[in-house]
Amino acid sequence: MSTLDYKQFICNLCGKESSVAQEFHREGGACQHCGSNIRFRALMYVLSHHLYGKPIPLSDFSPDKNIKAMGLSDAPHYADKLAALFDYTNFFYHTEPFLDICNIEAMPAGCYDLLITSDVYEHVPPPRHVAFVNSYHLLKPDGLLLLTVPYTMLAKTAEHFPDLHQFGFVQDKKGMLLVNRRQDQIIEVFDELTWHGGEGSTLELRIFAETDLLQILAYVGFKKIRVWQDDVAAYGILQAQQGGSFVISAVKDGDATPIPVTQHDPYIDNIYPENASIDHDLIHSPARISGDRAEKAVMQWQKEFFDNKSFSILKAAWQSIKRILGR
Ligand SMILES: [Zn+2]
Repeated sequence: MSTLDYKQFICNLCGKESSVAQEFHREGGACQHCGSNIRFRALMYVLSHHLYGKPIPLSDFSPDKNIKAMGLSDAPHYADKLAALFDYTNFFYHTEPFLDICNIEAMPAGCYDLLITSDVYEHVPPPRHVAFVNSYHLLKPDGLLLLTVPYTMLAKTAEHFPDLHQFGFVQDKKGMLLVNRRQDQIIEVFDELTWHGGEGSTLELRIFAETDLLQILAYVGFKKIRVWQDDVAAYGILQAQQGGSFVISAVKDGDATPIPVTQHDPYIDNIYPENASIDHDLIHSPARISGDRAEKAVMQWQKEFFDNKSFSILKAAWQSIKRILGR
């Protein structure tokens, strides 16, 4: 084996000199000091370009509490620094402060100068454009969206569960299964699920295609859409060989007509049909199963679903009794 070629770089998150092996992917290339990976450094590199027109380390950004920013489960490597610089809130799906990007009724519209969503939109339920429509809705006109998701340069998006509706997970001896009752009441069971690291809901629901992402962003009203695929060796951002999954930036076009949130998928043709055979190392499609194992999973899911429902009804009844009793 040949010796790895180590590259010196300045980490644009912590500002310190570090070195990494030349061969890595976007989740690799960790800074020896702050642990930032290529994805985090690429995100902050693009933010620097947007704010200052040039790349400067995050440690040299000027504090400005007039900049209202939000992240969706942003990594602490840069979230803590953004919170010190800006009026920034990091929201989470599974813990406080809560935000479900697919359900933002409680959130004020058009308030944010910056929205960072990094490796989140491959986990939101279909139809996948809703998260993008809501991102548009939350931003101010000319507000910046910084987006990353794992994506390919294939012709279409691999949507693993296009009919996801009322669903749950069942663990049996062989592993975790997904049981889904579609809107047309048909029940389907899937094996060989792909989970991503991290807390909260990390089931992989799709692997985007770049062309699909760019079309959806334009459709919901973003302009100045740019894919940042170049290497920036000085900051240890060596990514061009990834062949996809780059940072995409987009600016809210305040003059665009907002798209209403609908359950209809406007870009359904951008999804591979289920029987398509896709040869790509990022894509591991789940397996639809039937027979004994599937039947047992459905029974278990229905039992748990019913038990949960009975529990909720009992809990609601107890709450109203307490109210009547004035406790
Ligand atoms: Zn660092």
